[in-house]
Amino acid sequence: MTSRKRGGSESGPRRAPREPKPPAVAMSIHAHPDDQEFTVAGTLAKWAQAGCRVITVCLTRGGAGSNKSTPAGMTRERLGEIREEEQRRACKVLGVAETIFLDYEDGMLQPSLALRRDLTRLVRRHRPDVVVCGDPTVRFYGGRYMNHPDHRVAGDVALDAVFPSAETRLIFPELLDEGLEPHHVSRVFLHSAQEPDAYVDIAGTLELKLAALREHKSQMGDWDPKDMIAAWAREQGRRRGLRAAESYRLMLLERP
Ligand SMILES: [Zn+2]
Repeated sequence: MTSRKRGGSESGPRRAPREPKPPAVAMSIHAHPDDQEFTVAGTLAKWAQAGCRVITVCLTRGGAGSNKSTPAGMTRERLGEIREEEQRRACKVLGVAETIFLDYEDGMLQPSLALRRDLTRLVRRHRPDVVVCGDPTVRFYGGRYMNHPDHRVAGDVALDAVFPSAETRLIFPELLDEGLEPHHVSRVFLHSAQEPDAYVDIAGTLELKLAALREHKSQMGDWDPKDMIAAWAREQGRRRGLRAAESYRLMLLERP
């Protein structure tokens, strides 16, 4: 008998790790309407099809938008209303069970304790086994895009809510008074990570991702996101020989 080498088999090259299993309950946390659709929508649609209860949390209503697509005379309030509606439609396309807005100010997110408490409350209430959020450690993507401060804050606060706040009884004890017991999140999927180690094949849900993205009409204008999104999916899938994928840094969190 030869001993089996770590991470491989005796007969062939090392196999790529299997795709992570769909969770029973997933919470997808983002700063703005459309962030989810650009990044993780293929995964969420696939999980929803597998019976996962997906809850989307949007920290702002997107009232700042972008200059390119915002008509003159638009107000933050009106744009926030439009974008909230667009996000709700996009979630419906993906099969998201519940969409929650926390109504913080777009463009001004701070990693405040109030925001951390609000997210901790939602994690304890909905008890997801998986949280999906952006990687807050990434400052630059290549030489042309600096990660939006709201995106960094959203990722940071989501992680801080997961650990240690949601699972530690005596952090935010006022939540106990609301009847919200501690909850341990077992896996965190960080999208837009620079060193991803987990891949979800989205060939079967790429069209749903595009359809959901197109619901963000106020931001898309006449632009068809198809080519860019397909190219991103191809690029992310390449390392695993997949035609289309979304990639993540995956954290498997130990029980307290
Ligand atoms: Zn954004």
